[in-house]
Amino acid sequence: MATVKYDFISCSEVFDFSQIDYQEIHSTFEPTSIQDAWEDILRYLLIKWRLEEAPKPAQIVFPDPVKLLTTCLRKIRKNLPIKPKSIIFNKTKMSKHPDIELNTAKIFKSVFDMMSTLNSETACREHLEKLRWNGEPICPHCGSQRDNHYKIKGRTEGKFRYKCRDCRLPFTVKIGTIFEKSTIPLQKWFMAIFIFTTNKKGVSSYQLMRELGVTQKTAWFMLSRLRNSVRMRDDFEFDGITQVDETYVGGKNKNRSKGKKIDNTQGRSLKTKTPVFGMLNNGVVFTRVVKNTKGKTLQGIIDGKVKKGSTIVSDGWRGYRGLERNYSHEIIKHNLGLFKKGAYHTNGIEGFWGLLKRGIVGIYHFTSDKHLHRYCDEFAYRYNIRTMSVGEQFNFTLINSDERLKYKDLIGKLI
Ligand SMILES: [Zn+2]
Repeated sequence: MATVKYDFISCSEVFDFSQIDYQEIHSTFEPTSIQDAWEDILRYLLIKWRLEEAPKPAQIVFPDPVKLLTTCLRKIRKNLPIKPKSIIFNKTKMSKHPDIELNTAKIFKSVFDMMSTLNSETACREHLEKLRWNGEPICPHCGSQRDNHYKIKGRTEGKFRYKCRDCRLPFTVKIGTIFEKSTIPLQKWFMAIFIFTTNKKGVSSYQLMRELGVTQKTAWFMLSRLRNSVRMRDDFEFDGITQVDETYVGGKNKNRSKGKKIDNTQGRSLKTKTPVFGMLNNGVVFTRVVKNTKGKTLQGIIDGKVKKGSTIVSDGWRGYRGLERNYSHEIIKHNLGLFKKGAYHTNGIEGFWGLLKRGIVGIYHFTSDKHLHRYCDEFAYRYNIRTMSVGEQFNFTLINSDERLKYKDLIGKLI
């Protein structure tokens, strides 16, 4: 295994240390100064990432170093893994720092910019390599990361391969990603990713079929893989103020074939509509398709994802009764015409429901229960990266492409 490159990082120019709660760091790492603390934490993270055989952090703007630090500390304490892609450094500030080597992958201004720059399979592959490896290929078999793995030139364009200097096995950048064993050219994949990520209302498989010149089945499968790779991982905990709410999503009877029509579908009937539970914290939304909106169901999810003792804001739905036992519970009584209680409201999560419903009705027309969670994940993902530029969103999705969903598994789950 190669040596750890960032043995020691001086961070004084990178972050504003005056904002950080020194006491909290002190009790964890026992450093002698805040600057020391940062160095300890970064070194710890970099070594940990290396051990976990993960790629390096992406170069996308992280708005708040304090938030980053608090997240890291919480995860370290709980022994949760810290994934590089869940941590985003502030690029402009870091680029000034001599000790920090930035990822050199380009951030595109538009789909045109991307298509004209990445105009071949090789260009696409190189872009993916920069994002995933940043100049030091990582062997997916043994985890060795070094800049001198053997390069094997393939006969066909774009089939560039590596051979691990340690375990001697061959690999490419596609292994372990949604592109592995896919016969669809990377250029088509990249265009699909750009459209998928940056279209606020999403894209249907029919639309993608026309834009890429692939079959609808292929387009549908590409979208399924993408949705699976952008789903929110389970290793997080909300702290501070969390808005919770539930909604009902489902098709209208008139859109259904005759045999599938169901009588008495007025209002909140569960016969045709599926309940979805959502939480919003600090601009990040999390959704879960649920069987019902009973207290046991909703509070089971809340208990697993929200830190005890933090604040939860909800409407007056009876499923939220009893939250005050573990949380500071603020109830906004919508039935009394109230939408705000001091600084507390549920406008954020309700705004997200609006986006989700307009998207599902407008683009996907009808969504079966089996697929609904994927659409929810897709809309949540787009919502959660909304403050990035389109080029950053595109790169971020490429970095997230490392969880492969096999067609067989997907179909198996559906039937
Ligand atoms: Zn290896």
